[in-house]
Amino acid sequence: MRIRVGHLYPEYLNIYADRGNIAVLAVRAAARGHELELIPVSLGEAVPAELDLVYIGGGQDREQALVARDLVGKRAALHAAVGDGAAVLAVCGGYQLLGDVYRDRAGDELPGIGLLPLHTIAGDQRLIGDVLLECAWAGETLAGFENHAGRTFLAAGAEPLGRVIAGSGNDGVSGAEGCRQGRVYGTYLHGPLLPRNPWFADRILADALAHAGVDAPLAPLDDALELDAHAVAADRARNR
Ligand code: GLN
Repeated sequence: MRIRVGHLYPEYLNIYADRGNIAVLAVRAAARGHELELIPVSLGEAVPAELDLVYIGGGQDREQALVARDLVGKRAALHAAVGDGAAVLAVCGGYQLLGDVYRDRAGDELPGIGLLPLHTIAGDQRLIGDVLLECAWAGETLAGFENHAGRTFLAAGAEPLGRVIAGSGNDGVSGAEGCRQGRVYGTYLHGPLLPRNPWFADRILADALAHAGVDAPLAPLDDALELDAHAVAADRARNR
């Protein structure tokens, strides 16, 4: 099956090698006989039709300001894609812009597109370090690292991606990290995230495949190396 992936602003929002997440999805899809059709979508470019997955990476305030107003122009198309069942993975700066608003460190308010029920306000101290999350909804853990000034506040009833075992998470206080709504996932975790969290890579892949019409379980892969990398990152977070 061909999986259509819209990669938003790859030349602007790719801090900490977040595009590595796409490489992992491509390899794991190919290992099951599927193919990723990767479509970059940048400033002034229309959101392609019939996307199975939308991906947006992280970036500093400057890059976010460069893309935010253009992203608002893509709001309707992205809401339509999600309404049709497409999956979304958003990391850090991209995650913030999926909410209602991001007030950056200069105090400028960047509009979000309201795909996730949250808003973000930059604080004085950056939240930096290794992170370990418990994702009770999946019975799994996620390990990565964070580097953000933003404090993200989930609306009442919004589901976090996970609970912080070690690290700061959305705001350094609530113990929540990220946000999950249907097939839309936002997180602060860089790494890139997916190489050391194979279960989550397969979750994203399964959601995108389900939208593409393939609703069968993914064949297991030999994830010994990935699981070792997860264990090392998890230990680093616990001992930070
Ligand atoms: N500029 C945003 C912040 O500082 C996001 C940073 C990032 O994407 N790593 O919170």
